[in-house]
Amino acid sequence: MYSHLLSPLNLGFTTLKNRVLMGSMHTNLEEIPGGFERAAVYYAERAKGQVGLIVTGGIAPNLEGCVAAHAAKLTTLEEVAQHRLITDAVHAADGKICMQILHTGRYGYHPKTVAPSPIQAPINFFKPREMDGSDILRTIDDYVQCAVLAKDAGYDGVEIMGSEGYLINQFIARRTNQREDEWGGNYKNRIKFPIQIVQKTREALGPNFIIIYRLSMLDLVEDGSSWEEVVVLAKEIEKVGATIINTGIGWHEARVPTIATMVPRKAFAWVTKKLKAEVKIPLVAVNRINSPQTAEEVLEEGCADMVSMARPFLADPHLVFKAMENRADEINTCIACNQACLDHTFQLKISSCIVNPQACHETELKYIPTLQPKSIAIVGAGPAGMAFAHIAAIRGHQVTLYEDSSRIGGQFNLAKEIPGKEEYSETIRYYEVMLQKHHVNILLNHKVHGEELIGKKYDHIILANGIKPRNLDIIGANHPKVVSYTDVLQQKVIIGKSVAIIGSGGIGFDVAEYLTHHPTSDDDIANFLQEWGVDHNYRHAGGISKPMPTSSPREVFLLKRSGGKHGSTLGKTTGWIHKASLISKGVKMLSDVTYLKVDDQGLHISIKDGVQILNVDHVVVCAGQEPSRDLYNELLTLGISAQLIGGADEASELDAKRAINQACTLAASI
Ligand code: FAD
Ligand code: NAP
Ligand code: SF4
Repeated sequence: MYSHLLSPLNLGFTTLKNRVLMGSMHTNLEEIPGGFERAAVYYAERAKGQVGLIVTGGIAPNLEGCVAAHAAKLTTLEEVAQHRLITDAVHAADGKICMQILHTGRYGYHPKTVAPSPIQAPINFFKPREMDGSDILRTIDDYVQCAVLAKDAGYDGVEIMGSEGYLINQFIARRTNQREDEWGGNYKNRIKFPIQIVQKTREALGPNFIIIYRLSMLDLVEDGSSWEEVVVLAKEIEKVGATIINTGIGWHEARVPTIATMVPRKAFAWVTKKLKAEVKIPLVAVNRINSPQTAEEVLEEGCADMVSMARPFLADPHLVFKAMENRADEINTCIACNQACLDHTFQLKISSCIVNPQACHETELKYIPTLQPKSIAIVGAGPAGMAFAHIAAIRGHQVTLYEDSSRIGGQFNLAKEIPGKEEYSETIRYYEVMLQKHHVNILLNHKVHGEELIGKKYDHIILANGIKPRNLDIIGANHPKVVSYTDVLQQKVIIGKSVAIIGSGGIGFDVAEYLTHHPTSDDDIANFLQEWGVDHNYRHAGGISKPMPTSSPREVFLLKRSGGKHGSTLGKTTGWIHKASLISKGVKMLSDVTYLKVDDQGLHISIKDGVQILNVDHVVVCAGQEPSRDLYNELLTLGISAQLIGGADEASELDAKRAINQACTLAASI
């Protein structure tokens, strides 16, 4: 089982225990008081989980290169001492860890940013100052000095971040390097910066230190590198002493999704495979590899020598260990939602994971075995109920989980029907396996009524019975054209050729995606690359071509009462993708809408005093949700106390992140 993935990788002077690299993720832990202590526990947990090599979040080599003002850097001996906490903890757990050196260049969120040319990034407010020749030489020295300090701090190596559009990438690409001196102009000049960094780092640190170079193999932006240029750089980087080349896919400003959930698994492994014949040092494949099976396929198909998984280690720190023990079905799979990791990072919050709220909170949220096992009833097996049942059961409580429908999963059973959200079924699979393993008594097709709980000797009753979709309150709300999103996603109705969606929140967007989806061929990766304009043949610099989305099988209107742009309530790092996808399929987005009535003609609306009739076959109501409180009120009247979690507690701004977090936190304390 997983014979490629679990085989050691001999680097000459050291051996990695398997082919799994935990990719770099900025968690914001290093920026808070006591954060290094927390980061040490966080990384050590992943090392205990048997990952072959960990790469830390990006640490700046100087002030100018910081992600934001006061963000982590490594330039002093005091900072070395803090990093020691991390390396000691990882080594005590028999792990290996490299520190990523990241200079953000024009992507820094502060006014002191620098870049090869003073060109502002489209995703940043701050305009960078142009580096002069002495800035460049000093910055190269800063990289080297940072690597020396990393070695002093006990790291097994460094990763030099040369991709995703950060400073090194900014030197390499003509898009951002318009210098006319010896650091600009032709390609040879533009790649001198990364080559000198790697060369001088190797010279300073000697042969027995891991140097990973993260090479942007597919920029996905105009005026990015051509494939021939990527190969030239890879060969040079190998020549000057890198140990491993890791893959970088897409600049942050690229308009192609690279890691979000609609990106098919291993969608970019072909890029790394292209480079395999060109260099001898180990290559790492990245992006949307989230299971041992997918990782094994990447290696078996000869795409790379190692695989990088980053977010999957937030979702499950013991992913590799479970694969080693042939327990892959017990892995809590990363569903690539970005909601608690990348969205948090960009909001300068501590990262975590929607399906594992313990991630980066290991020292605060602990699941300690109970000394007083209790009998607990949970009503509702959505994300909140499943998560509560799981944590209560692993702590040693006796748990009964009641579910009205014939399956567990709650609204995730609807979410997984959305094209591009198929991964959500993995969370349901995880809980199915874990609840059975920990002997949770699951009673399906069992709608709980208050009276049946009278006289039952439960120490605690937890109501996780979710929400009710909000009904429409206009004339014609009961017209046969009007349906709920639940009817649509459970395929209880055959939807016509033209549709108006009332409500443009997360569910309205998802339903629009569902209704505009047109299955083409079975090759998900080819479809995805074509839809988003990624050139599999790499004919153009940057690897981009004209996007060719599939056409929608129906006309869709996406409506909202409020003003302003659609999609502003969606995830920070994924909202733009959902919106771009719907625009490409011709969805008409209308704001400032007043809903007047529904009749045989369709949906009557007014926008800024102008009345219109949308002559649609169906009106799908996605107008938000309200908590399901009938059972709670019934129990109150019967004098039975119960605790509410998830949507049953509060439906406003509810998402699975809050539902699961609240459930795990309560289950940890009961
Ligand atoms: P629910 O998931 O609603 O579960 C409640 C459960 O209780 C149900 O299974 C129900 O059958 C059961 N039940 C109700 N009454 C009784 C009773 N009397 N007896 C027994 N059982 C009962 N959230 C995100 O964070 N990210 C997303 O990308 C996302 N996408 C979504 C896409 C769609 C299409 C939908 C519909 C939702 C999506 N959500 C998403 C929202 C997320 O699924 C919900 O926030 C989450 O499911 C709420 O969890 P819950 O356990 O509180 O309630
Ligand atoms: P929502 O995000 O709160 O959106 C509800 C929509 O309905 C809004 O567009 C609202 O906007 C409209 N609305 C509210 N009351 C209305 C009324 N009485 N009549 C007509 N329209 C009304 O809720 P949701 O879309 O139901 O999603 C539920 C939760 O699931 C959300 O909180 C979300 O976080 C989560 N979810 C997340 C994702 C994701 O990708 N992260 C995806 C799906 C769901 P106007 O007032 O402007 O009309
Ligand atoms: Fe993966 Fe979502 Fe967890 Fe991030 S929050 S690690 S994307 S499951």
